[in-house]
Amino acid sequence: MLGMIVSLLQSNITVQATVYKDGFTYQKLPGRIKKKINGVSFHKNSSITYDDLRYVKVKYYNFNGKVKTGELIVNKKIAKKTVKIFYELFQIKYPIQRIRLVDEYQADDEKSMADNNTSSFNFRTVAGTNRLSKHALGLAIDINPRINPYINSKGVLTPGNGKIYKVRDVKKCKGKYARYMIQKNSQITKIFKKYGFSWGGDWKYSKDYQHFEM
Ligand SMILES: [Zn+2]
Repeated sequence: MLGMIVSLLQSNITVQATVYKDGFTYQKLPGRIKKKINGVSFHKNSSITYDDLRYVKVKYYNFNGKVKTGELIVNKKIAKKTVKIFYELFQIKYPIQRIRLVDEYQADDEKSMADNNTSSFNFRTVAGTNRLSKHALGLAIDINPRINPYINSKGVLTPGNGKIYKVRDVKKCKGKYARYMIQKNSQITKIFKKYGFSWGGDWKYSKDYQHFEM
């Protein structure tokens, strides 16, 4: 009974959001979000708790140039940096197709990537290994993953529907959105690096063009 009352009280507490700029906020996970991610992108574990995570809202320009609102879950250590980065991207009208929680895809990374969805937190291992991904700690953000695929050291590319974007030379790539591909000298790469992130496109044995991590 007491447990029921406590959880009832907790779910009714309004979590205060920190506003960086209009439309760019972060806050502790609201009850509805905990409920949504529990057993989906979040699993009970010894590495990370709900309290280590923040629910982030940002505005962005989609591929049609329309202003949209996106939601992300990131580690509290990078919450402020995340809103600052996305604010800078918004200022330069950086095109992002969509920003939704990976839970909208049953936490299936392949599905989320195939939909070109930008996201961060997902309690999972690195594909093909039993090593925890930086995404499991909310310390990595994937941007437009279909057009910025991950190519492992054996040359296998994910998501499968991003194959055409294996060709990274804008002039040679036949993909419809080739001009939006992340390059070493792209503004987005410079912005993330300025805040201390490293870019998966710089990796030696594999390439993860969508991936920025702290
Ligand atoms: Zn990633």
